[in-house]
Amino acid sequence: MNMKLGILAIVAAAGIYGATALIPQQVKAQGAGAGKQKKEMIGNFTVLDSSPKREDKVVKTEDEWKKLLTPAQFKILRSHGTEPAFCGIFHDNHKDGIYNCAGCKLPLFKSDAKFDSGTGWPSFFQPVEEKNVWLRKDTSYGMIRYEALCARCDGHLGHVFDDGPKPTGLRFCINSDGLVFEEKKK
Ligand SMILES: [Zn+2]
Repeated sequence: MNMKLGILAIVAAAGIYGATALIPQQVKAQGAGAGKQKKEMIGNFTVLDSSPKREDKVVKTEDEWKKLLTPAQFKILRSHGTEPAFCGIFHDNHKDGIYNCAGCKLPLFKSDAKFDSGTGWPSFFQPVEEKNVWLRKDTSYGMIRYEALCARCDGHLGHVFDDGPKPTGLRFCINSDGLVFEEKKK
């Protein structure tokens, strides 16, 4: 299988589970008055066009990231890669702890929000804090999807779908190589 076909197969596989849920159920107008641009919402998240402002932003050059990250981490976080299903190190991790961004170590997801989606990627129904993850529309491969990124270093994490379990109804489908796990001390 050549690389392009491989990537398409992965994307297609990722999409099957969420195929019926690619259009956000909630599309709300934000702000008062007519004529304001409508912002798309997924759950409580507003889909943004650009990175949200933070005091603690981490900005590095491509070369600096290459030195800091493993090739697998670089591929996910900085090159918008997708790891093959069931091959990542965390899809079957059931330990208690916290998943931090592999790029900047920002806490992103807790084990108590992790669920078995059957997709082969680590899946969470919510991040540690809403402000730690931001969403951007992704129209690559002829699909409408919503990309999840780290709010501190803008690393690509995966995608979010609105077919997740309660209480949020969201499914953050995340690549293991975008995360580092910190096990809870007993
Ligand atoms: Zn980060």
